[in-house]
Amino acid sequence: MRHFTLCKNGMKRYKTTELRICTACGEPIADKYLFDIDGCAWHGSCLRCTVCLTLLERQPSCYFRDRQVYCRADYLK
Ligand SMILES: [Zn+2]
Ligand SMILES: [Zn+2]
Repeated sequence: MRHFTLCKNGMKRYKTTELRICTACGEPIADKYLFDIDGCAWHGSCLRCTVCLTLLERQPSCYFRDRQVYCRADYLK
């Protein structure tokens, strides 16, 4: 079980030409910001709860398990 707290500090700005592949949609992330959780990268707009599709970018925390992300309510179910 791993719990990651998301906050603005968790958003990394990328200035390099290195392209990270989004874990959710498989597309390269060309945005200024991405979410990096445990070495996996997401578009901010792709980081949604697997169950209820809540946009986790706006949540104070998210839960990560088996390369899937959950909001707090669904993770604790
Ligand atoms: Zn994506
Ligand atoms: Zn949820």
